[in-house]
Amino acid sequence: MARYTGSVCRLCRREGTKLFLKGDRCYGPNCAVGKRPTPPGEHGQARQRRRSEYGMQLREKQKARRAYGVMETQFHRYFLKAERQHGITGENLLVMLERRLDNVVYRLGFGTSRPQARQLVRHNHILVNGKKVNIPSYLVSANDVITVKPKTAELDHFKNLRETGASRLIPKWLSLDAAELKATVTAMPQRDDIDLTIQENMIVEFYSR
Ligand code: SF4
Repeated sequence: MARYTGSVCRLCRREGTKLFLKGDRCYGPNCAVGKRPTPPGEHGQARQRRRSEYGMQLREKQKARRAYGVMETQFHRYFLKAERQHGITGENLLVMLERRLDNVVYRLGFGTSRPQARQLVRHNHILVNGKKVNIPSYLVSANDVITVKPKTAELDHFKNLRETGASRLIPKWLSLDAAELKATVTAMPQRDDIDLTIQENMIVEFYSR
């Protein structure tokens, strides 16, 4: 599958916000958004023109897509699926993205960023209900139990996690037993549980043009 392999900090600068794609560096003084808050490229520092409505919708769509590390085709598929579900399409879309296994692994602090969490899933380090699942786009459901493979649990990062407890605030739809590296999906996420500043209604407008 096609993957973006360029500088991820460029993506944050393009969207003008932190997408937290680099783990610990995102929280320190070396974050590129803090150091160079202009868009990347030759004309990045030029005075910004006022964005058209289409431009703003496009940026919201790209922000969500890049934060969750999803390529365009798959993102559009999520949108079509969200549209077929009951409820508000924009919220359905974000909830679906939030339920991705790589995102859950990130939210639990097993991975320091979504890209790293995706790598953990891809490389067979994560079990769902006791079975290996190496598909980052796997959507978790209520009562799913997520654990770390016993051999992986011996890595320093996981040893620290077991000793010191959760390294970040765990969303209320997940519960984590850090000592056992065992998490349970207690409920489906709601829009309020998603801390990204995305205007999902603009994504809906983008695809409804
Ligand atoms: Fe984005 Fe993190 Fe790079 Fe900052 S350090 S620009 S938040 S990926």
